[in-house]
Amino acid sequence: MRKIDIFDTTLRDGEQSAGINLNTQEKLEIARQLEKYGVSIIEAGFPASSPGDFEAVKQIAGTVKNSIVTGLARSIKSDIETSWEALKGGVQPHLHTFIATSPIHMQYKLNKTPEQVIEIAVESVKLARKYFPLVQWSAEDATRSDRDFLVRIMNEVIKAGATTINIPDTVGYASPIEYGSLFRYLSENVMGIEKVKLSAHCHDDLGLATANTLAAIENGATQVEGTINGIGERAGNVALEEIAVALHIRNDYYQAESGIVLKETKRTSQLVSKLTGVVIQPNKAVVGKNAFAHESGIHQDGMLKNPETYEIITPDLIGDVTTELVLGKHSGRHAFFDRAEQMGFVLSNEKLNAAFVAFKKLADRKKEITEEDLFVLLTDQQVQTSEAEVYELESVQVQYGTSNIPTATVQAKTPSGEVEVVSSTGAGSVEAIFNTLEKLVNGKVHIIDYRVSSVSKGRDALGEAVINLSFNDVISTGRNASQDVLEASAKAYLNAINRQIVKAHYQEQREAVAQ
Ligand SMILES: [Zn+2]
Repeated sequence: MRKIDIFDTTLRDGEQSAGINLNTQEKLEIARQLEKYGVSIIEAGFPASSPGDFEAVKQIAGTVKNSIVTGLARSIKSDIETSWEALKGGVQPHLHTFIATSPIHMQYKLNKTPEQVIEIAVESVKLARKYFPLVQWSAEDATRSDRDFLVRIMNEVIKAGATTINIPDTVGYASPIEYGSLFRYLSENVMGIEKVKLSAHCHDDLGLATANTLAAIENGATQVEGTINGIGERAGNVALEEIAVALHIRNDYYQAESGIVLKETKRTSQLVSKLTGVVIQPNKAVVGKNAFAHESGIHQDGMLKNPETYEIITPDLIGDVTTELVLGKHSGRHAFFDRAEQMGFVLSNEKLNAAFVAFKKLADRKKEITEEDLFVLLTDQQVQTSEAEVYELESVQVQYGTSNIPTATVQAKTPSGEVEVVSSTGAGSVEAIFNTLEKLVNGKVHIIDYRVSSVSKGRDALGEAVINLSFNDVISTGRNASQDVLEASAKAYLNAINRQIVKAHYQEQREAVAQ
């Protein structure tokens, strides 16, 4: 059976999409889950792009042991050297470097001749190989490049020491047959291609990312790149869970395996959705809420007689199991800690205790605590960072009636340590809260996107709020899950503001060290 390596770029190509901002803790959490999910390679970020990215890549490289950790670098000496500093702690240091090869990119973006591009690519791969045992080279915009130019440049970068060649459909332009034939052509014409890994990287601009990736596998690709839930630039990258499940379900046809632990699919998908704030469309293949729902009478009838009539994938396969009632009001610390461990959380005692306090508070108000609730509580602790002073909501009170003006009063601890009480009005309860918080944070806030949803089922379910806002022209996303949607909304708002404070705090620290 052929092995197809899964290269996950949720933390690089995915994180770079609009409205997503993950802090180091959140990135680490996703990386740990990706390791559990069984991906071969984790692209943890672009170390030279910012101090925050550098730090996250370094921590991930130092933590993850069962997946190779890589980072992206342009064909620039300083990018490659910075990446080495971030990645050298990894088990198998791996670098991903690239240069554009299409006429339009070479002429307008790089302002270089094809000959110059070959020279730069060779130099950067040679330099990278001085540090890294594994070097992946990508021909950016490969699907709009001249095939014979690709053969020439690939001949040279393989000679220079590249260990993986990636052929990205950067702008999501290729059709499946075309993309497959490009893999075949390069497999047959590039010298030494049999010694390196051949990788596919597809974007979904025409809705063809999954089809293109599978076409590449059929035509010689030994590695595929993508993201969880298909997040990424513009229309996104290929959704890796779709590829892993397709290889499994249609094993008879593809005769290849991914090494992915399919039972971790749902958990991985939910974690990424929660931490990025990017909702999964209900009818999304494999991980959508309705992916296993049967509505029509004829289908339901068939399902009752034999599930295989209409169900090719079972929820069980991807770990989508509903465990009702997990813990309740009377569950003790021990049961709670056990459950956290079973769910795969590794938390310090301090964080476990904090999660337990939150659990007790929730159990007072909610009859049944489900695994989804626990997941939210524990993840919140897991990604908590407390190095910088931030806003902390102490209470929020809203006066609302259909015939009077909604008024909100907020009591909160400010970064200076003082407790402030502020109040304001608005056209509705939520607007009153947001207006009050804008007064509290004392800056210009513009709400770009705001939504609330329920975490689990039932009228006492946790409410989750996700808010995307700009604060003094810097954009960030905040989220929170609480018993009440108004409380969750207020906390999500402050969470978005706090992310900017924490980021600025780290930036200052680094600058102080650099001076
Ligand atoms: Zn991409």
